Amino acid sequence: MKTLEQIILIVDDDKINRKMLKELLQEQAKIIFAKNGEQAKELARKHIPDLILLDVVMPDLSGFDVIEFLKNDPETMNISVIFITGLANDDDEERGFNLGGCDYIYKPFKSNIVIARVIMHLELIRQRKMLDEIAHIDALTGVNNRRKMDVVLQDEVAANNKENTSLLVAILDIDFFKPYNDNYGHGAGDVALRQVGQALREIFLRPRDFVARYGGEEFVIILPDCDKAGAEIMLGNIAQSIKDKMIKHEYSSVSEQLTVSVGAVVVKSSEYSVVANIMKEADTLLYQAKNNGRNQWCIAEML
Ligand code: GH3
Ligand code: MG
Ligand code: MG
Repeated sequence: MKTLEQIILIVDDDKINRKMLKELLQEQAKIIFAKNGEQAKELARKHIPDLILLDVVMPDLSGFDVIEFLKNDPETMNISVIFITGLANDDDEERGFNLGGCDYIYKPFKSNIVIARVIMHLELIRQRKMLDEIAHIDALTGVNNRRKMDVVLQDEVAANNKENTSLLVAILDIDFFKPYNDNYGHGAGDVALRQVGQALREIFLRPRDFVARYGGEEFVIILPDCDKAGAEIMLGNIAQSIKDKMIKHEYSSVSEQLTVSVGAVVVKSSEYSVVANIMKEADTLLYQAKNNGRNQWCIAEML
């Protein structure tokens, strides 16, 4: 049996419809159900399904109400929605598309057409996800890329202000990486970059912890809800995790192994915190860490 990695949420107040649709589609995706609009909203947020088959006429909330809600919530706005409804007329169909639906199927539905359309949409969704991943991942190291970092940093600074927490933003720069490349070759340099990326990924365990490759041999980490004491611990973990990779570097003046210098800023919530200033401050601190002898971090709190 093939593994079903995609999820379809079927929303219909009629039990027989739910059962029929499940029987049609259970070989294509994992199926979950909601029997009214409220439940649909709740399950969509909880499971983030790939696709929703949405009835329109239901008691309380209509399918049109549900899609409006979903499209206004950043967590659920990208979920594809197919209406499947007895409202078989042009005006309602047009309304469904205008509200962000990706397809509109009339009831009573024809089984083979429902299956064919769902398969096509699942494939489109799969491809879109893949493209999205490629667009946000650094090809060499497999960590997030600069483009993704820009978006996440904006979001986390905003969340930090709203939630009244502290946020750690740090720039890491590999020490003496030019001599590393010059002596071991560019291929070995690439391997070392991958190992550093891996070392960083291994220690960040919370879902919102974030690492990206910022430039050539520079990485950025973003840790939400992290105060100065927590930051010191994490920076120690980073140094240790890279050390554990035991990447030999005989051409470094500070260690026999590859090391990094870090500029770290703990951003306290404030409505004035600006991303550009945070990065500038982290860069200044990185420069200090380099000047102080490398293989160390400099940290400051920023109100
Ligand atoms: P410092 O200790 O002051 O940071 O010195 P450094 O030698 O690390 O810094 P510098 O900026 O002089 O050199 C960075 C080097 O990183 C030069 C460049 O060849 C290398 N580099 C950047 N991107 C890549 C990459 O994708 N692969 C490899 N192998 N090397 C890279
Ligand atoms: Mg550099
Ligand atoms: Mg460097």
